[in-house]
Amino acid sequence: MNKAKQLIDRLEAQHSLSIEEYEYLIENQSDELAAYAAEKAVALRKQVYGTDVYIRGLIEIGNICRNDCYYCGIRRSNPACDRYRLTEAQILDCAREGYTLGFRTFVMQGGEDSAFSVDVVCHLVRQIKAEFPDCAVTLSLGEFPREAYQAMFDAGADRYLLRHETADKAHYEKLHPAQMSFDNRMRCLRDLKDIGYQTGCGFMVGSPYQTAQTLAEDLKFIEEFRPEMCGIGPFIPQKDTPFRDFPAGTCEQTVYLLSLLRLIQPNLLLPATTALGTIRPDGRERGLQAGANVVMPNLSPLGVRKKYALYDGKLCTGEEAAQCIGCLSRRVASVGCRIVTARGDIIR
Ligand code: SAM
Repeated sequence: MNKAKQLIDRLEAQHSLSIEEYEYLIENQSDELAAYAAEKAVALRKQVYGTDVYIRGLIEIGNICRNDCYYCGIRRSNPACDRYRLTEAQILDCAREGYTLGFRTFVMQGGEDSAFSVDVVCHLVRQIKAEFPDCAVTLSLGEFPREAYQAMFDAGADRYLLRHETADKAHYEKLHPAQMSFDNRMRCLRDLKDIGYQTGCGFMVGSPYQTAQTLAEDLKFIEEFRPEMCGIGPFIPQKDTPFRDFPAGTCEQTVYLLSLLRLIQPNLLLPATTALGTIRPDGRERGLQAGANVVMPNLSPLGVRKKYALYDGKLCTGEEAAQCIGCLSRRVASVGCRIVTARGDIIR
């Protein structure tokens, strides 16, 4: 058996490799190796989660952002971005609609907007938890001081998603302006975990300046950090950003990395992302076939979905919608899984 397959076998058994070994696996990706990894990844997922796929209702609460990430369509310096901020009433209406549709997790995601202050976020979380005590609330609102994360947790937030973007400091500095700090991002992730959130990190696949070495560092970071969730999706250029001319990441590499992540941590909550569904019509199904077990349909008001334009061509008029849960269920069933109505906490 060749060396790459042997490494996959060892990852399956021991859930750990060296950075050099991860790099070897990334450099030697092939269709055959990806299929080999996917088969093992799906088997491990089945051992932990059976055929269940968890759904999260994504509420994009606003696209006003103080940050200026070079890859992101809602970055501060993009004058072409049509800004919006949902009101508390609108957000609660999204949650109500989602609850009726069967969602038991709401993810509030948005730009870093000082109007969503700690007090405002805490109030929102309390309202949602009071009205839907059987639901989990996930926040994805960027970087805050530890005390702020603690207050949101005390208000009832269960989970927090903050992609690390890259585990390589020099790479991080190529993706972000000098005002943004790799060390602070990592500090945030450590604080979130320490406070007791189910914590999600993650990165874009095929981001500019990414290499097999930086990806290997990502995998090692995830192996050691042991997040509860990990969001990965292809980088997709956005026409009004400095990275407009870089190529998009591929579906093939994204699903291969999903399989490796499942082998690293069998109980990881691993979404088949909207970005994956954007670069390929059957991208999310392919993600599930590679070991993903979460999908995050869009619950935002119809009128703002297009405005939350992180990248070009984002799915926002079709089956990514929470309202299309019926079609999504059929798609998920077509790859041997089933959508369940549950909070979908990590199984330890
Ligand atoms: N502001 C919060 C934060 O920084 O975590 C949440 C919103 S942020 C827009 C969510 C994620 O979108 C980022 O972590 C990034 O990985 C992803 N993203 C941004 N621009 C993207 C692009 N051009 N292609 C793919 N993903 C992108």
